[in-house]
Parts: sequence; structure tokens; C-alpha cells
Amino acid sequence: MTLADALARAAAQRLDRLDAQLLLGHVLGRPRSWLIAHDSDALPPDAARAYAALCDRRAAGEPFAYLVGEREFHGLALQVGPAVLVPRPDTETLVDWALTLLATEPAGGLADRSSPQVVDLGTGSGAIALAVKHRCPGAEVCAVDLSEAALAVAQANATRLGLVVEFRAGSWWQALPGDRRFDLVLSNPPYIAGEDPHLAALRHEPTLALTPGGDGLDAIRAIVAGAPPHLHAGAWLLLEHGWDQADAVAALLQQAGFEAVATHRDLAGRPRCTGGRWPG
Ligand code: GLN
Repeated sequence: MTLADALARAAAQRLDRLDAQLLLGHVLGRPRSWLIAHDSDALPPDAARAYAALCDRRAAGEPFAYLVGEREFHGLALQVGPAVLVPRPDTETLVDWALTLLATEPAGGLADRSSPQVVDLGTGSGAIALAVKHRCPGAEVCAVDLSEAALAVAQANATRLGLVVEFRAGSWWQALPGDRRFDLVLSNPPYIAGEDPHLAALRHEPTLALTPGGDGLDAIRAIVAGAPPHLHAGAWLLLEHGWDQADAVAALLQQAGFEAVATHRDLAGRPRCTGGRWPG
């Protein structure tokens, strides 16, 4: 069997051609450009078996990132596995907004602090916390998750990337001392509604990270409701949410007393994160 034959077999399984090439490159330890130049080479039997197994898993809907064990997020190579949600490019919108606030929020605000206190609630692979620490090394970053298995993944990513982040286990604010205050709170919580048909396609990822059940807003309600005692005056709270939840999240923030409530759009132009500033 040649490389071209192996790719043709993947096409017959209806695998995306790019996925098939990247999986073959992963098995052979070669870049795509090499595969293209060597497509009449014979594929060694071990590699052929490993490749076929990966193709079968991909065809059964397993995320590509789990098959290769890695996903790039905001310029960082993160290791990922079934204990954590695969980081999405949409979430880079939240990180970019956070970095802008850390750099520019004026007088008495975030940019004035020598070491702004940042927390990522529901960190999963550590994507948000690590991206912020990477780009803003002066920030003191804490990351919380209910799942010990997720925290182990996040901690390993931090160690491998040489980024110092404090990890804490627990549910949202309960993971933190009652008097611990922050300048910036970030979260990509589970927000898919319990009955959303899209959940079927996401069945390989942890349900805990995807949906709180019900209308999908319970985790966001808990984060907003518990926030005030944990916020310095002028702190910002930024939340990722579903494309149709911006108005509901903005209303929750306004009712809780947040000011300057605004929504940012993801790369596809969908309203994806909403946040506000705590008065002071
Ligand atoms: N954005 C993810 C998706 O729709 C969901 C992430 C989440 O619930 N936080 O696939």
C-alpha cells in the first residue's frame, strides 16, 4: 500500500482530506509537504495499521485534537485529551478582549496594576489562563476547575510551557477563599442547552464542560451571582456564551449591577462573549 492508497482509503471513509493528510503525517512524523512529494512511497505495515485505527476513530466522530493529543490555541501548543473540551478558536475572542483590558483599561483600572489578579473559572485544558499568562507575564493567574482530571491536564500544560499559574479544584467561586478578590474574571463555562441537538456531535467531549442542562445559562448565572464579593472595584467579568445568548447574559450582568456591559463577536461574526465592569 502506498501513501496515496492510504489517503484514498480515508476518502472512501468520507474523512476530510486535510484531516487524513494530517493524521498520516502524524503517524509518519512528517509534514504534509513531505507526504505530497512522497505519495507513491510504500507505507510500512505498522504505520498502515496505526493510520487505519486513527481514521476509524475520526470517522466515528472523535475530535481530531484527541487523536493527535494536541491543539494550538492563541499561539500555544496545548496537550488535550477526553478529560477536557478541545479549545476552540472562538475562545480566542475572549482572550483578546482580556489582553486589551489588561493593556489599556485606564486610570485606576487594570493597566494601572503592577500585577493584576486574574481568574479563569472552568479552565479545562488551561487554554484561557495559559494564553493570558503567556501574553501578560505580570498578571497573577489562577485557574479553577471542578474536574481533577481536567486540572491534571491544565497543570501539565502549564509545566510544559513554563507558565506559572495557580490551580484550584472546586465549583466556580467555591474553589476560592471567600475574601479572594480579582481584577479580571474570565470564563468559558458550559452553556449549551440540555436538549440542544448539537450535543450529539460533541459526545466525545466531557458533558460537564459543554452543558449545565436546562436552558444552558445556569453556570453563567452561578458565576455572575457569586462574583461581587470576589471583585475589586473596577474589575471586569468576561463570559463566553452561545451565539443566541448575548442578550440574556447582558441582562444578567446589568441586573447584578455591572456597568459598561458589551458583547464581542467571534471570527464568524457571531456574538460570542459578553462582559461588564464592576462599579468603583
Ligand atoms: N463552543 C463550544 C461548542 O459549541 C461549546 C463550549 C462550551 O459550552 N463552553 O462547540
